[in-house]
Amino acid sequence: MKRPQSACSLRSTCPYCGVGCGVLLAVDDQGALEVRGDPDHPANFGRLCSKGSALSETVSLDDRLLTPRVHGQDTDWDSALDLVATTFKDTIAKHGPDSVAFYVSGQLLTEDYYVANKLMKGFIGSANIDTNSRLCMASTVAGHKRAFGTDTVPGTYEDLDEADVIVLTGSNLAWCHPVLYQRILATRKARPDQKLVVIDPRRTASCDLADLHLPLALGSDVALFNGLLAEIEKRGLIDAEFAKYVSGLDAALVSARADDLAATGLSDDVLAEFFDLWCGTKKVVTIFSQGVNQSSSGTDKVNAITNCHLATGRIGKPGMGPFSVTGQPNAMGGREVGGLANMLACHLDLENADHRNAVKDFWSAPVMPEVAGLKAVEMFKAVGEGKIKALWIIHTNPAVSMPDADKVRDAIAGCDFVVVSDITVATDTARLAHVLLPATGWGEKDGTVTNSDRMMSRQRAVLPAPGLARPDWHQLAEVGRRMGFNAAFEYETPAEIFREYAALSGIAGGFGRDFDISGLADLSNTAYADLAPTRWPVSSGKKGGRFFADGGFFTPDGKGRMLPVAWKPPVAKTEKRYPFRLNTGRIRDQWHTMTRTARSPRLSAHLAEPFVEIHPEDASAQGIGPTALVLLKTPNGRAIVRAMITDRTPKGEVFVPMHWTGENAPSGRIDALVPSVTDPISGQPESKGAVVSVTPFAAK
Ligand code: SF4
Repeated sequence: MKRPQSACSLRSTCPYCGVGCGVLLAVDDQGALEVRGDPDHPANFGRLCSKGSALSETVSLDDRLLTPRVHGQDTDWDSALDLVATTFKDTIAKHGPDSVAFYVSGQLLTEDYYVANKLMKGFIGSANIDTNSRLCMASTVAGHKRAFGTDTVPGTYEDLDEADVIVLTGSNLAWCHPVLYQRILATRKARPDQKLVVIDPRRTASCDLADLHLPLALGSDVALFNGLLAEIEKRGLIDAEFAKYVSGLDAALVSARADDLAATGLSDDVLAEFFDLWCGTKKVVTIFSQGVNQSSSGTDKVNAITNCHLATGRIGKPGMGPFSVTGQPNAMGGREVGGLANMLACHLDLENADHRNAVKDFWSAPVMPEVAGLKAVEMFKAVGEGKIKALWIIHTNPAVSMPDADKVRDAIAGCDFVVVSDITVATDTARLAHVLLPATGWGEKDGTVTNSDRMMSRQRAVLPAPGLARPDWHQLAEVGRRMGFNAAFEYETPAEIFREYAALSGIAGGFGRDFDISGLADLSNTAYADLAPTRWPVSSGKKGGRFFADGGFFTPDGKGRMLPVAWKPPVAKTEKRYPFRLNTGRIRDQWHTMTRTARSPRLSAHLAEPFVEIHPEDASAQGIGPTALVLLKTPNGRAIVRAMITDRTPKGEVFVPMHWTGENAPSGRIDALVPSVTDPISGQPESKGAVVSVTPFAAK
């Protein structure tokens, strides 16, 4: 099916990773989309990676959901929305507000997220809204809140240009945030003295040009950064001046001294080189991502890193700081609107009665939950137990992407009422829906996203909405109105939602919180349409720079907190039946469960089928030859994949990309292998610590 012509040329934002690259969009007279990097966008200055460059190949209308469907039959919007609203209302009346839930996504635009959060928390009266961002950055949120009092990214992308040492830990930036990696490479070309250190059990593509690679034992990051903190103390590098802005130094040092560097498995020489570089250089940025977050001790890992920066005052100043990079295009926006089960809007705290009441009053809301709702893993467990009876899943594919995915798929299949809003009918989750709502996709919808360095950018519609597709905020507002909350959801445009959200953030600013964009609360429709990339905060007193150079933390005493943390191994233990450790992650040219990127032959050509990286000695010991089919078995599930024998993965560990799904990998879904073990503080699953058996596959 060919798209109708829509001759435009617009600035927008890439819908994939959290780098948040600006794109220029045009539609030619054949209806084909043209995509180029935006030379003026401060995130990418015109660069795009393979995924961003192939965006035009991924917007075909094949498999598009174009009409609402109820029980597999096409219907009209009124019938579908009435059914959703009535069923949610009846379920709440019968079983209470906590019997329903929304599971949303970092693919939502900020305006969509805001409306979803407002409906669930302020009007349904439950905090049962969680997001697939729980799977990628919840540990960072929890670590930030423990250290800074709020979920604040202290630095900016400019720090990568100004740093003298960049440390990547748990981040294959070259493949997962390629334009940021290209930015580092460009700086190193101009300034060869800038050093790059990669901390990762695997020798990833990010190591190819690194000055130093630390192949630490999987999950031992806390031991490494505790070792660094102890070394900082030993060398007399604690910043006595900055210490007046910091609490918890002594306790953190006691823990650091007591920890066991041997857990990292790193040689003394490699450790000494790393400590010399880190300690001997003032301008250090430590970038971290899923290798840190996706762990049963992810929050402690984040705090082990921030401890080192707080102890040395290397935070919030040019070229210095801990720096988390987000996985999804709007994971950050979701955090800002409070679209997680344990958060309130605008970085206010759900457990703080003053914050709750302020938001409730602002929304003129009838209710406001006082306790956190169910985080992703708990939510699907409750679905499986029949406690959640009505579930609305928006732009995500949990039947594939959740840990213990087979159980999650069965839980969704057994739920009384499942609504799925998506652009496609072809996901494992969409197939389980009672009601399917067709949503507008990237290139067709309007709103804002926030990237990893707090830059809010507009996504703009360059293509007409196909069929009967509607934006997510519109669907949510319609259901809100049909549930009886007319006045609160009378939005006509995303600009109205954005203005309301910006005004609410002024309340957060009034409580001394970091997230304040009240300077944008009076944007006209035209100014919203033209909004250039803008880094928050944006208020009369504050403008988009760095945080914490001179203290000013958002904790009750205004001090940055150092936390006593201690290394803990992954929860699952290797044993005779499951002798290998399973690491999972992304590959360069695919995105999530491949619903879009698999449409591009160019992207699919990079790595065409699911595989397992295994060390040559392990492959030989297991009798696995090159390109052989391999059976992976964990206590949770099984999958059959192709062997990729390489010494990039260490002995005793195997690596599997997480993208392939039931649809495109009939041999198994990778997240079905991953246990639903979570970090007790953040609720983030340990997606990199399963134990697995690896044997040749013999077809019967
Ligand atoms: Fe898109 Fe990320 Fe690539 Fe930029 S780096 S083009 S945001 S996928």
